[in-house]
Amino acid sequence: MITFEDVSKTYSGQTKPALRHINLQIDKGEFVFLVGTSGSGKSTFLRLILREYRPTSGKIFVLGKDLGHLHQWKVPALRRQIGTVFQDFRLLPGKTVYENVAFGLQVLGRPTSQIRQIVPETIDLVGLSGKEDRQPEELSGGEQQRVAIARAIVNRPKILIADEPTGNLDPQTSVGIMKLLDRINKRDTTVIMATHDQTIVDQMRKRVLELDQGNLVRDQVRGVYGTA
Ligand code: ADP
Ligand code: ADP
Repeated sequence: MITFEDVSKTYSGQTKPALRHINLQIDKGEFVFLVGTSGSGKSTFLRLILREYRPTSGKIFVLGKDLGHLHQWKVPALRRQIGTVFQDFRLLPGKTVYENVAFGLQVLGRPTSQIRQIVPETIDLVGLSGKEDRQPEELSGGEQQRVAIARAIVNRPKILIADEPTGNLDPQTSVGIMKLLDRINKRDTTVIMATHDQTIVDQMRKRVLELDQGNLVRDQVRGVYGTA
């Protein structure tokens, strides 16, 4: 599903690589935590998968496509198959929960009849039934993140990338978000989540990739947050 072959990335104007000689494979249906201190290369890794950047050297394959040979006009089609969730929710202000979730389908030109079916199903899946008409700012942080997750999965992407999705949430709310991500993963969506949340990583015991100064220093099955 995702393959990195000797991937290095040095940003222009920088001397130190953000990623160095990364080799790994992530299979369909996996749940992967990406850990490492700030500046270790986690965001760079995620952004390479989305083709927001190209590697300086090496090859990246995502969903069967060699990203080095993917035409620019095909990048939006790639990204439609990859849902994204961020620490700061990034909801559309001035739009209700329903409108936030429906937006991605409307942009794709899906028929209204289909949208009217899929959007309530997705809102129900994330546990927000009854809140369709709320504005995001009327919701708690945990609820806003549920809306963001609904928006990210409404199109049934094959991969879900979550960059610190619990970074702004209290521990109890974070547990609820992780249960939701686990449920989405079990519906056959590959989940890749960058996090600093030791409690969550240690509780879930999923595969852990650890980056340190751009090096992949650990790839552990049913891993924990840190080896120290
Ligand atoms: P993390 O997500 O783990 O905090 P990043 O991937 O953001 O790490 O950063 C890895 C390294 O690349 C850091 O040294 C950071 O300063 C550098 N970096 C990240 N983005 C850019 C950029 N757009 N231009 C130049 N350097 C960058
Ligand atoms: P939490 O459980 O994270 O502490 P809150 O106390 O912020 O959540 O919210 C509890 C409930 O009140 C939620 O269902 C939320 O939708 C609702 N709520 C919070 N703020 C507002 C508001 N300004 N207007 C309407 N409903 C709100």
